[in-house]
Amino acid sequence: MQCPSCGRQCSTQAKWCIGCRYRFDGAAPGSAPVEAPAVTEAPARGGLSGALMVVGVLVLVSGAGLKLYSDHQERKEAEAAAVAAAAQAPAKSSDERYAEHVAGIMAREARKKELGKLQPTFSSSAPTMDEARRKQQAELLEEIKKQQKPLELAPAPGR
Ligand SMILES: [Zn+2]
Repeated sequence: MQCPSCGRQCSTQAKWCIGCRYRFDGAAPGSAPVEAPAVTEAPARGGLSGALMVVGVLVLVSGAGLKLYSDHQERKEAEAAAVAAAAQAPAKSSDERYAEHVAGIMAREARKKELGKLQPTFSSSAPTMDEARRKQQAELLEEIKKQQKPLELAPAPGR
């Protein structure tokens, strides 16, 4: 369709000329919807960004919801564990508690051994501390020897 106003070739479906906005439907040219193309574009963009915003909000809300839910679950699990532990603790026999106690001591001893293995690297950087420790151990050994001497000599008077 050719625009009768400016002669531009327009689509037959067009309601007005895209060049001069002359209305083909018979309406007065003065009432040409100057804003019309903008209006038809704007909702598309607005609709898209609106949809994106909705999706974003949904993602945020669902993310927050999931976070809240997982927090809630974690709290629930922790509470359940605490309840289970509380319910289990009194049910334990003294033997079980003793076994736990021993296991704890053994774990502590193992940890000490691990620390002892690490000690040389530590003490190499702190020789004074190592010296003090060695001296202390030597003194301790001396004391033990002193205490042991009378015991070794004990059978002598009976001879
Ligand atoms: Zn025209």
